[in-house]
Amino acid sequence: MTDCLFCKIAAKQIPSSIVYEDEELLAFKDIHPAAPVHLLVIPKVHVATLSECNETHGALLGKLLALAPKLAKEHGCEVTYDADGKPAGGYKTLINSGPDGGQEVYHLHLHMYGGARPWPGQ
Ligand code: IMP
Repeated sequence: MTDCLFCKIAAKQIPSSIVYEDEELLAFKDIHPAAPVHLLVIPKVHVATLSECNETHGALLGKLLALAPKLAKEHGCEVTYDADGKPAGGYKTLINSGPDGGQEVYHLHLHMYGGARPWPGQ
């Protein structure tokens, strides 16, 4: 899609605060952060919505989700465990799909929220 905001961000036609990039994925800071850490992870290829995905997108979706723990560590919101095994820290991952799912930008993206709460829905 030529008129897609996130395609333009992936192509560096529109500036963004990029925190990760590889051949298939880009992660950048949300322009209107809803939490102290609010990142968006996108595939570089245009996929409008999760609702258009099927099993052929499995590898891409796996990579998208698997990037979250690495980003969480880099941004100080990974899950940690104390000596008793009690978990602390953490983050939320979210994909909005379609109007009823609250999707505003029609290029698949994974939200990552972390840092001091409250965040949306907490
Ligand atoms: P959605 O509601 O899941 O589609 O979320 C779209 C997100 O994109 C929102 O959290 C917006 O703040 C974010 N956003 C919109 N434009 C930009 C931009 O130019 N750079 C970074 N984030 C953006």
